[in-house]
Amino acid sequence: MNDTKPNSPFPDIPFHSAVLPEAMQAETRIQFRCHKGISCFNACCRQADITLAPYDILRLKRRLGLTSTEFIRKYTVPFQMDGDGMPGVKLRTDETGTCLQLDGDNGCGVYSDRPTVCRYYPVALLALREKDSPEAKERYSLVKEAHCKGHEEPREISIADYRTEQGCEEYDARNREWYRLVLKKKSAGPTVGRPPQASLQLFFMASYDIDTFRRFVLSENFRTTYQLPAEFYAEVEQDDEALLEFAFRFLRQVLFGERTVQEVADAWERRVAQRKEVWDARKQMEIERRMAADDQKYTEGGDGYCADK
Ligand code: SF4
Ligand code: SF4
Repeated sequence: MNDTKPNSPFPDIPFHSAVLPEAMQAETRIQFRCHKGISCFNACCRQADITLAPYDILRLKRRLGLTSTEFIRKYTVPFQMDGDGMPGVKLRTDETGTCLQLDGDNGCGVYSDRPTVCRYYPVALLALREKDSPEAKERYSLVKEAHCKGHEEPREISIADYRTEQGCEEYDARNREWYRLVLKKKSAGPTVGRPPQASLQLFFMASYDIDTFRRFVLSENFRTTYQLPAEFYAEVEQDDEALLEFAFRFLRQVLFGERTVQEVADAWERRVAQRKEVWDARKQMEIERRMAADDQKYTEGGDGYCADK
């Protein structure tokens, strides 16, 4: 399940693929079957290189009873998706390359919540852009690796039916907007340029660390900056999926400057005024600190200045 190969099962990631795979349609039929009795059972999970999309993390953190922050720390490793430092995360493996979710001979320990890449394998979902079209068109490719004996099984199935069988549709529906903005970032190339560090951090938080993003959205600072109704806050406080949808909308503003979330009219002026208050307070504290240090210096060195000694 190595998604860093040119025929990556992960949509348009990585960006440095040297070879474009042959694109297949949803109706294309493939010969493949994976089952518990197959001789290579779990071989793919013992050399796992699984890039995660936002909805994958949401499902896995809930499955494991962790916050997104805990899940990221414990079960993922970071990587850069492109030369501009766009952050990505992969499932962590042990030192032999075995996925930490593998439950010995029982197979995947999180099977019903397994990530998109694991569901699609050996099909690769490609986000390809038709010439002169701004829209991403989904196409597929087949990954054939020597260790995988599923290709020798006597079963033919269309890619469309394979997606349904593996439960890919829900995952794609939840991740689609994110794929689009990652693709747009890549297609824009140097015209958008390297996002500032703060935007990259926001991208990481909104894409992967949904529980931290929730605290950010529910903060007083956010509420006074953006014009959003009370029902919105009530919904995203409880609903991970609604929050994820909003995260992708918010990222369009962060990455491309699209006005996807209306700001409060004088939000900028208020932020500048608040910053000024903080700067003034810091300046005052620094002055007081220096004066106190000077006082202490003279007090400690007081022997030398005291006239009656
Ligand atoms: S998440 Fe499950 S299916 Fe995917 S690599 Fe890990 S053990 Fe295998
Ligand atoms: S058939 Fe392929 S996907 Fe299934 S267990 Fe074997 S290596 Fe993994």
